[in-house]
Amino acid sequence: MASRLLLVAVVACSASERGPRPAERHVLVAPGLRLPDDAAPIAYDLHLDLDPEKPTFSGTVAIRAKITKPTDHVWLHADELVLGAATWTGAAGTGGTLALDPVEGDEMRAFRFGKRIEPGEVTLTIAFTGALDHDQEGLFRQRAHGGWYIFSQGESVFARRFTPCFDEPRFKTPWRVTLTVPSSDVALSNMPETATRDVDDQRKEVSFAATGPLPSYLVAIAVGPFELVEVGKLGKAKLPVRVAVQRGEGKRAGIVAAKLPAVIDALERYVGEPLPLAKLDVVAVPHLFGAMENPGLITFDEPMLLGEPRVKPFANNFVLVAAHELAHQWFGNSVTPAWWDDLWLSEGFASWLGAKVEVELGAVDDVELRVALTRREAIAADTGSSAAPLRRPMLHNADPDNSFDEIAYQKAHVVLSTFESYLGEEAFRDVLRAYLKAHAGAIATTADFVAVLRKATNDATATSFDQYVRSTGVPVVELRRQCDGDHKVIAHARDGRTVPVCIGYDGKRYEEACRLVGEHEEIPVFQATCPPTYGNGRAGYYHTMWISDAPHGSVRDLTLKPARLRVVAGDDVAARIDRGELPAADAIVELRSMLDSKDPYLVLGGVAIAHAIDRLVGEPDRAAWSAWLNKHVQGLNGENVKSELAEQLATARLELAPNSFGLGLVKDTMMAVERDLTSMDVSVMLVAVVATSGGDKLFARIADRAKEAQGDMREEFYEALGVFGPAQAPLAVALLGDASIEIDQAWTPVEHMLERPATRSATWRALKPVLPAVVKRLDSDVDELLAAVGSLCDKTERAEVAQTLQPLVADAGKPQLARALAAIDHCIASRSKLGDLAGALAH
Ligand SMILES: [Zn+2]
Repeated sequence: MASRLLLVAVVACSASERGPRPAERHVLVAPGLRLPDDAAPIAYDLHLDLDPEKPTFSGTVAIRAKITKPTDHVWLHADELVLGAATWTGAAGTGGTLALDPVEGDEMRAFRFGKRIEPGEVTLTIAFTGALDHDQEGLFRQRAHGGWYIFSQGESVFARRFTPCFDEPRFKTPWRVTLTVPSSDVALSNMPETATRDVDDQRKEVSFAATGPLPSYLVAIAVGPFELVEVGKLGKAKLPVRVAVQRGEGKRAGIVAAKLPAVIDALERYVGEPLPLAKLDVVAVPHLFGAMENPGLITFDEPMLLGEPRVKPFANNFVLVAAHELAHQWFGNSVTPAWWDDLWLSEGFASWLGAKVEVELGAVDDVELRVALTRREAIAADTGSSAAPLRRPMLHNADPDNSFDEIAYQKAHVVLSTFESYLGEEAFRDVLRAYLKAHAGAIATTADFVAVLRKATNDATATSFDQYVRSTGVPVVELRRQCDGDHKVIAHARDGRTVPVCIGYDGKRYEEACRLVGEHEEIPVFQATCPPTYGNGRAGYYHTMWISDAPHGSVRDLTLKPARLRVVAGDDVAARIDRGELPAADAIVELRSMLDSKDPYLVLGGVAIAHAIDRLVGEPDRAAWSAWLNKHVQGLNGENVKSELAEQLATARLELAPNSFGLGLVKDTMMAVERDLTSMDVSVMLVAVVATSGGDKLFARIADRAKEAQGDMREEFYEALGVFGPAQAPLAVALLGDASIEIDQAWTPVEHMLERPATRSATWRALKPVLPAVVKRLDSDVDELLAAVGSLCDKTERAEVAQTLQPLVADAGKPQLARALAAIDHCIASRSKLGDLAGALAH
């Protein structure tokens, strides 16, 4: 949805009696979030003058553009740049100065041609300067290992901070980059270097080959005293690969040579073509949020890239990240989402394909667990006030960057897995190849992908997929098993959905039958006797609900099946509780059978049920519920299970039953925490074990140490304060009034306490009287407060939230407040459907 440019003539022609008649001029109206459609770039020639020792940079860009409608100006994105001399040239003989219009758009500026020009090609040449001070956004510099380095991060809307440009992903053009840098530095960009010449005895100019069609957000630069490690020529096209690391770190970059060849090979086999790159530099950034897929210049957070290849968690993580970033070379870089509302086309495919390669290369210790947990994370994000469809409207410049979340990554990933399970691996691969081929080097939308899917499969499949893209939340499939006559499962998808369902069933061996389920579908299960049957054999993106008695009979049956099913079974029961469709008595029976089982995957399934109940427990039932949990968490000790599973179980125990540990363990842990505090190092998990016994005194000590701590460690300290019990809620809230603590630090423990069911009411009571001051201090981060109060679950509190926050919140925050109130209403309704919890616990 492109905003239209409006030209409004406001200056009247009536002359003043006393002064000269003012020249007629148009006052421009800023176009809003999107650039108008009357101009588009054809190619860029970008020259940057960079010295990592200096905090500023300068540059000149020449943009060849096509003007499609008669106009006297052109809008470009530009943010935090000081714009200098600008000129234009057009058709033979035309040209002149480009004048910067005083009207400023949202991270946009308009340049005036000085006359009305006709459609055709123009070249806009603009000089500018900027600062390198926004860490990890635009051009930024970092110091490490005794040297200064400059890096770039264009995604999502930050290319406009290092050059004026048409900064929307739909504009893909060649970019020619030239960098003037100190002679002793290495300069890198997306493409191979073509020439270097000395500018003077201090500086050199490095030119790079023009890129293929590239959106502005993928233009990348790195400059500094790098050490370059040659990895060799990799992949089908013998791609030259290097690692660029900080000086002296080359010997720690062995993971690239050890693992990257296999990653490239696996991806090229899947996609059926060589990586679409001219060269690849893998670049270490001392501090980066993760990694970034810039074609030809992939940046990595240094700890992900430098390390010992024989250390398995490090090597496995590198494989995961590298596979994700290289999958982007097709999904996102070659085929680019036309606009940020379709970000899932980039991040969802890269997550899904990256994970597939990770599994193929044996970099996942426990594939069953990983599959189940990815589904669990996606569903958690898609439930409650964060729920969203894959395709989402973008309303503000902050929205693109905020949409890099579990919806774009995990939800899209699991939805893609669900259709792969239904269509089969090869058929699905062919759909993806056809999609990549149809849009290579260009842009695509959700509709383009659905069209390719429709052509390769059928209307029903494409429609089902399209529903997934546009819908919020997880579809629900009702199932009945029929055992007289032909054995079959009768399935019905709620809410007009069609859902790719894979039923698992088990006679002599475990098998699956997949069908697209709409209003009514009969799925035969071919076994001599009516077999135990499971509704979600492939951990698909849907919840099942057996209308007849659950046909898997007993938990023991379930232990025989793929482990993912045992986790999924718990997640689906949890969803029923959340929907208000399972009374407490039945919920407790399910929970107890899973927590008490000897199978850690079933216990992990039970954790989801426990959390679902926990969210509905009010203060009157809290003590009985905690006592019951403390009795039934023995399975949560994670002994003798693989590391990731053990960690999941331990975390669950700390969240659900922090007081279930024996006195001896608490005493030992307290000693460890004391040592941590002395050495200014803190483990949130250890603090959780001793928070209750430590009480106010321990809280105060950690709060004091937090003030002295720095960087990531300081964040750990504030997180540790968030695991205390309701008695410490007033102390946490008091931190918000301490002007010597930065507000985002002080907010961390309060947010955590407000979100935890056991502490939410106490935290709200302490917070309520100081809300005006807190809202003021949080300023633009007030959305975090509005999201957190959505965790409350009580009628009185709901009224208080509405009453106190309504007048404090600006219009922009009103939708978030409405979502929070809806979440509270949903919780209150589900609680009343759960019914008599105390009675159920007493049995
Ligand atoms: Zn990504």
